[in-house]
Amino acid sequence: MAKKHTAQCACGAIKFEFDTDPTFIAVCHCLDCKRASGGEAATFFGVPEADLTLISGEPKAFHYVAQSGKGLDRNFCPNCGARVFTSNLESFPGTIFVTIGSLDNPASIEPALEMFTKRRLEWAKPLGLAQFENMPS
Ligand SMILES: [Zn+2]
Ligand SMILES: [Zn+2]
Repeated sequence: MAKKHTAQCACGAIKFEFDTDPTFIAVCHCLDCKRASGGEAATFFGVPEADLTLISGEPKAFHYVAQSGKGLDRNFCPNCGARVFTSNLESFPGTIFVTIGSLDNPASIEPALEMFTKRRLEWAKPLGLAQFENMPS
């Protein structure tokens, strides 16, 4: 039986699922997220590594050192290029951050906070959420 939340890349080669209802759901405006997502911000949430099951495909990992100096692996589909999740985060061991757009049912999950708001572009207006200039501590 499939887990509660199912997700996939844009071409469908990579499929994964998890049961956890995430609580840390962030809209991040940092420059790293802008570059990696190609948009003004990225929305993602934490899922325990042990809960995330890869059903099909083989994501390619790009190791990256963020401006914080901490390493992480951005995982994307080598076929369609869609970013699916971030793993091996030095700052959050044991947690995988899944991009909300990968979900089959993204309407079931809403952001709880906005972070790196100091990098938010002028035209992007704050959502009615907790605001953090940098990383929430
Ligand atoms: Zn794909
Ligand atoms: Zn970010």
